[in-house]
Amino acid sequence: MGLTREILLRISTNEWLADQLTRRKFTQKAVQRFLPGEDVDPALDATAKLRQNGIPTILTLLGEHVKTQDEAEEVTRHFLGTLDRIAERGYDSDISVKPTHFGIELDLEGTYGRIRRLAERADELGRTVAIDMEDSPFVDGTLDIYRRIRAEHRNVAVCIQGYLFRTASDIESLLPLAPTIRLVKGAYTEPRDVACRGKRALDAAFLEHTDTLLGKLADGSDLRVFFGTHDPEMIDGIQERAVRLGLPKDAFEIQMLYGIQRQLQLQLADQGFRVRVLISYGESWFPWYVRRLAERPANVLVLLRNLLG
Ligand SMILES: Cc1cc2nc3c(=O)[nH]c(=O)nc-3n(C[C@H](O)[C@H](O)[C@H](O)COP(=O)(O)OP(=O)(O)OC[C@H]3O[C@@H](n4cnc5c(N)ncnc54)[C@H](O)[C@@H]3O)c2cc1C
Repeated sequence: MGLTREILLRISTNEWLADQLTRRKFTQKAVQRFLPGEDVDPALDATAKLRQNGIPTILTLLGEHVKTQDEAEEVTRHFLGTLDRIAERGYDSDISVKPTHFGIELDLEGTYGRIRRLAERADELGRTVAIDMEDSPFVDGTLDIYRRIRAEHRNVAVCIQGYLFRTASDIESLLPLAPTIRLVKGAYTEPRDVACRGKRALDAAFLEHTDTLLGKLADGSDLRVFFGTHDPEMIDGIQERAVRLGLPKDAFEIQMLYGIQRQLQLQLADQGFRVRVLISYGESWFPWYVRRLAERPANVLVLLRNLLG
């Protein structure tokens, strides 16, 4: 792992720095590129603009690692409200949630119950709830929650990280559930015996799992596939494989984060691919923002330019 990336990932978990930097104007200005605002309304307004270009969105309230059940309940109520706000506007936006934001560290059953309530409400409204995948200690619990909710609701997706050595067998075990899988490279610092490292290895792993997922779509298996990536090479790889397998452009969805590769998002949507943009909002944006910097350390320059005025 590059030194800059490692330093940034360490900074992302430092509470003192989070407190200091979130108050600074220059950080607030730099973050606007990736975050339309701290409330759901700016996220819905950004959705309106993207929809004009045929790009629907996924909304997520930033936050993770709640410390009490009450906080987890409040987060659940917030997301239920977000689903209602999406419905009021008549948008086809989905939501994405992090298990540690719903209390998975405190109690797995409670977390299952809370995310299940969201899946129920989303089902009534015809929307999908995606469950994010966090660092490796939470993978088993997250998959357990996913499996149980999937047994009751079709409209629930789970994120699978290409960099984990266990991922091939996780995909295999999910396939009988007719799952919805979002494949990503993986965003956390993991021990060497848990995940591969370095761009080349991450890319190779991502494409290996792409082969599996697209192969399953091509052989008629019942699953939905989302790819969460901004990497033009991965997108070319997905497209080449889809053509080779005779899959139409709308057989899968390409998902990107708000503000990243905007041109590519528009271009893909124009070409007839299904593109969806994940918009984050909320006050707890510091760890999330620093992870975005770690993905592309050149973004630190944007931050420094704002610092220098
Ligand atoms: C919709 C979505 C959901 C996700 N959910 C999860 C999740 O649940 N769990 C998880 O661990 N990870 C998640 N991720 C993050 C993911 O694991 C990667 O860390 C992230 O997508 C960066 O990898 P990449 O595939 O874009 O390629 P990279 O190899 O990081 O980047 C390749 C190229 O993409 C462009 N790029 C990438 N990042 C940026 C950026 N920040 N700014 C500007 N350009 C950039 C650059 O051109 C770069 O050269 C998600 C990502 C997306 C898009």
